[in-house]
Amino acid sequence: MNAHSPARSAAQGVFIDNRWHPAASGRTIEVVAPAEGLVFAEIAAGGAEDVDRAVKAARRAVEGGAWGKLSATERGRLLSKLALAIEAHAEELALLEARDTGKPMKQARADMVATARYFEFYGGAADKVHGETIPFLPGYFVTTERVPYGVTAHVIPWNYPAQMFGRTVGPALAMGNACVVKPAEDACLTPLRLAELAASVGFPEGALNIVPGLGEEAGAALSGHRDIDFVSFTGSPEVGTLIQSAAARNHIGCTLELGGKSPHVLFGDADLETAASTIATTMVQNAGQTCSAGSRVLVERSRYDEVVEALAQRFGKLTAGTPEMDRDLGPVINATQKARIEGFFARAEESGVPVLASGQVAEGVPEAGFFVAPRIYGPVPRANELATKEVFGPVLSVLPFEDEADAVRLANGTDYGLMAAVWSHDGNRAMRVARGIKAGQVYINAFGAGGGIELPFGGMKKSGHGREKGFAALHDVSTLRTTILKHG
Ligand code: NAD
Repeated sequence: MNAHSPARSAAQGVFIDNRWHPAASGRTIEVVAPAEGLVFAEIAAGGAEDVDRAVKAARRAVEGGAWGKLSATERGRLLSKLALAIEAHAEELALLEARDTGKPMKQARADMVATARYFEFYGGAADKVHGETIPFLPGYFVTTERVPYGVTAHVIPWNYPAQMFGRTVGPALAMGNACVVKPAEDACLTPLRLAELAASVGFPEGALNIVPGLGEEAGAALSGHRDIDFVSFTGSPEVGTLIQSAAARNHIGCTLELGGKSPHVLFGDADLETAASTIATTMVQNAGQTCSAGSRVLVERSRYDEVVEALAQRFGKLTAGTPEMDRDLGPVINATQKARIEGFFARAEESGVPVLASGQVAEGVPEAGFFVAPRIYGPVPRANELATKEVFGPVLSVLPFEDEADAVRLANGTDYGLMAAVWSHDGNRAMRVARGIKAGQVYINAFGAGGGIELPFGGMKKSGHGREKGFAALHDVSTLRTTILKHG
């Protein structure tokens, strides 16, 4: 496949027991390339019947099937083989990801490096999760071990399809669960291909099943299925509520990752050069459609004008283009998302929030593409929606603060608590502020939207609960068995 290929690939169907099957409904969903605004592929519209088949296949795999019989080391080896297969197919996967999401090729390539790394990390970790022994009554020997839930369900979003797939199924498979994945209808071609690659490296039937389809059909059927043991979700707070309600009705656990409004807290003594370029670059990564984007810059008033100038200069140079143009950012995912972002722009204008700078859209991009020029606003009033709501677009808000206490109050002043950064060369202050912020990850004098694969990641407050990435994820996708032996 080529990024320019006009061919519409045929819907492959749903992937169950290592084979493609047509969706029971026979229906398909058209897939639009965001940079072109044109349909370029079709996926199967999976529904309740397909989900049920996938859950049954997963159940067979963990209970009595070949997957459930593998040792932790053997599971780890399969994950490591998948990492190598992803590396071997990295260019093909990056082209597919770039066409499906519109992101620049350099970013799609980086995403494949990260996706392979998930399987490399969890492949290595699979046989390194140890239990404990617990001193108990005389004549007893007590051990604990982490055991898989059984069948885990994974509902993932469209912003980083391949990475999200690796992030959620990597630890689940490492712990010995069999997975059923419902990828996002807007972008799911790489997860479908990754499932196929998993089969090609020897994952047994039923270990990894994937049912594409609409959220309200396949997603609702999967998260509400009576025979799943755990559900992991990343996406909007609204759907998060539905997922957690379904999990509650099923009396099972869930992980929710629901986005953020992550602050950069910039003190007067910060290294402005490094801070400004990091803030601008990471904000437009994935056209701002990153749950952990640092979308608020809180600046000590004494240096506000200087910081604003440095950021505005950088934002003014940012350019959106097609994947092949490989500029700073691509288009946003669809017409709805573009209209949603433009709604924020229109309301900001109505309420008189100043635009500090706008980037541009490159000449020659297809007219029907969903391009949005990046914007930076400031000073944004504290109660304005640009200071509190997740835009999920290339938009940065700047707000001044008075002192350390005010900075912490402002940083904690939204419903979210996913990530944060503190920029200061006063180590004690940076540490105090970092520990005062309610967020799952806090950087000091650095920022990486999404962070590393080794680093536990997830929300506090309304950003959700549970942890992905790092060893913490292995605990979240497994449960604990305590065995009590009386030997007299
Ligand atoms: P969404 O929450 O609707 O979709 C995420 C996933 O949930 C998709 O796979 C979707 O098919 C599925 N889904 C939708 N309805 C469902 C239902 N009733 N039951 C089960 N699954 C269902 O997100 P979206 O509409 O694609 O984006 C809307 C907003 O969500 C964005 O503007 C952004 O603010 C936020 N978002 C956040 C993240 C994140 O990483 N935290 C990712 C994507 C979107």
